[in-house]
Amino acid sequence: MLQSHLQDTWVTPTATDASAAEVRDAITGDLVCHVSSQGLDLAGALDHARGVGGPALRALTFHQRADLLDALASAVRARREELYALSARAGATLFDARYDVDGGIRVLRDYATRARRELPDAPYLVEGPAERLARGDDFLGVHLCTPSPGLMLQVNAFNFPVWAPLEKLAQALLAGMPSVVKPATPTAYLTEHLVRIVTEAGALPPGALQMIVGSVRPALDLLLEQDVLSFTGSAATAETLRTQPNLVARSIRFNAEADSVNAIVLAPDVQPGSPLFEAFVREAVTEMTVKAGQKCTAIRRVLVPQEHELAALDAISAELAGVSIGNPAAEGVRMGAVVSLEQREDVRRAARAIADSGRFVHGDPDKVRVVDADPERGAFLDTMLISADPDAAAPHEVEPFGPAATVMAYRDTTHATDLVARGRGSLAASVVSDDLAWTLAFVQDAAPWHGRLHLMDSANMAQTTGHGSPLPALRHGGPGRAGGGSEMAGTRGVLDLMQRTALQASPRLLDALRPADPA
Ligand code: NAP
Repeated sequence: MLQSHLQDTWVTPTATDASAAEVRDAITGDLVCHVSSQGLDLAGALDHARGVGGPALRALTFHQRADLLDALASAVRARREELYALSARAGATLFDARYDVDGGIRVLRDYATRARRELPDAPYLVEGPAERLARGDDFLGVHLCTPSPGLMLQVNAFNFPVWAPLEKLAQALLAGMPSVVKPATPTAYLTEHLVRIVTEAGALPPGALQMIVGSVRPALDLLLEQDVLSFTGSAATAETLRTQPNLVARSIRFNAEADSVNAIVLAPDVQPGSPLFEAFVREAVTEMTVKAGQKCTAIRRVLVPQEHELAALDAISAELAGVSIGNPAAEGVRMGAVVSLEQREDVRRAARAIADSGRFVHGDPDKVRVVDADPERGAFLDTMLISADPDAAAPHEVEPFGPAATVMAYRDTTHATDLVARGRGSLAASVVSDDLAWTLAFVQDAAPWHGRLHLMDSANMAQTTGHGSPLPALRHGGPGRAGGGSEMAGTRGVLDLMQRTALQASPRLLDALRPADPA
């Protein structure tokens, strides 16, 4: 029975094995743990965050909070091998595990450096130069960013059990807010191990980090006006949480990072066989196979000009044929399993729904050859490339959260931008082209539908960090279906978590606050 970490103590729920949820190994099907929040004092945990963790963090300056991020990063780095090993139980290869674990460490380090460089050695920030608000010079206006005396409740998705809590913690800690983390059930044991590493290292002040394993629903009614609910998961769950009556009644801040049907668009100027075309193929295949396609930013739609459709289908299929699937511990395995047998069923259903408007060009939802594992006990799936009618609904609506993508041919630029927009808002899209005019026209139409656009050309293709990688310097989050949220975006994201209060005052008062200004 997985424990929760509440009020700086490890607590076991009162549930029995029979009444708790079972979590199974994605590779072997063996039982890993039971998960439940039955009998946990959730109200006590939230009070502890507000009464103990919050005051301790608010008393620190931005630079002292940055030191906490460094301490956290060092603690996780020192024991990251344990997290890699455990990640294999969730179906992850070593590469996938590093993406999650080292990616989380990098966000912490990045934010610590940024905070020291861009924020003052003070607990709050006076933003920008003062504005003159009247004819004379004695009545000025600025914005003051102060930490909210509340907590961040993180409700996380299963696919990034280490990166997601660390990425949210980095911003919350800098903003002076304690966190209560609720990991998704299928990978809760990984977040639990992360929290053990952090607490055993004594990296954070009491009350700054707590973790609720199991259902967090009763805690939603206990959130208050100064709290933030930071959600990552499916659009369906986001919809439920967004309209939760307590959230609505108290105007509680809600950030949603939801699913999206992300696209890559090959422009007409890129000739099959060219280095840029090869880079496009590698990008599509990487996105399908890293973490077995279980990335919120993963490419689900591959849009190509009609004249290059066959070449794209052939090239991507050929590359997928070389991907070896199986036990992450076995030599040469490039793709592991999806997280659970239930997830495998979900992906199969989604892929079939899309293929109804087309056909499977590579892979079969019901068959897979695996290395050193039982394909039935483990949650293995073949990579699946679907060719579909671009004007059908399913490829733009259904998110197969696994190793599947759909190739669709567009007629002209307008058709391509219309198709991209049919995702109703996405986290990220890639455009592959050396044609500046085509790309600029496409960007203007596609940008409002996307949180991030990754524009790949012959000049940057060797340096790109890839379609799927959210970076601390840039905004992560997308409009519409993608949740309408925003995370990271450098220190702007930290300030957005704080209360921004307009101050109208005399220069004497503003000068007294000014030592907090980075200038
Ligand atoms: P999910 O089923 O929506 O669950 C997400 C989280 O919400 C889990 O912790 C879950 O807990 C919890 N939850 C579910 N129903 C709830 C309720 N009524 N009240 C409170 N909490 C509730 O998503 P998932 O299957 O874990 O993750 C996969 C999805 O996440 C994909 O669609 C993917 O695109 C999306 N995702 C988006 C991003 C992004 O940054 N935009 C990142 C990663 C993943 P339990 O597990 O205990 O039910």
